[in-house]
Amino acid sequence: MELTRNGSRPSQKGPEQFFTGTVRIDPIVQAPEPSRVTAGCVTFEPGARSAWHTHPLGQTLIVTSGLGWTQCWGGPIEEIRPGDVVWCPPGIKHWHGATPSTAMTHIAITEQLNGKNVEWLEKVSDEQYRANFIG
Ligand code: MN
Repeated sequence: MELTRNGSRPSQKGPEQFFTGTVRIDPIVQAPEPSRVTAGCVTFEPGARSAWHTHPLGQTLIVTSGLGWTQCWGGPIEEIRPGDVVWCPPGIKHWHGATPSTAMTHIAITEQLNGKNVEWLEKVSDEQYRANFIG
């Protein structure tokens, strides 16, 4: 058994290549093979969001604080709140992040396929992000 002490793994900055705005990733699970599961706690400052992306085996999000938005390609922007659980099916293009005024934190649980748990696509433009206010 492996016991990982709180504070033993540094927080990471969400890379600018894959995120807009300020994003902090705190690692939770990086289980060795044959396990496929990875998990992290992701905090988006107001206005921050992921780029569009897909997950080869899907992803579960558990919102733990704040107010967030998520959207599947071609669908409406959905508001997500603490306690909400979101299942992103395999291969479905989507993004998740904070609202413009309020930060959001979620736990993301994502299985790996051949060592990859995400396929990154283009960034979510300001127009796409703000579409919630227009439409
Ligand atoms: Mn995702």
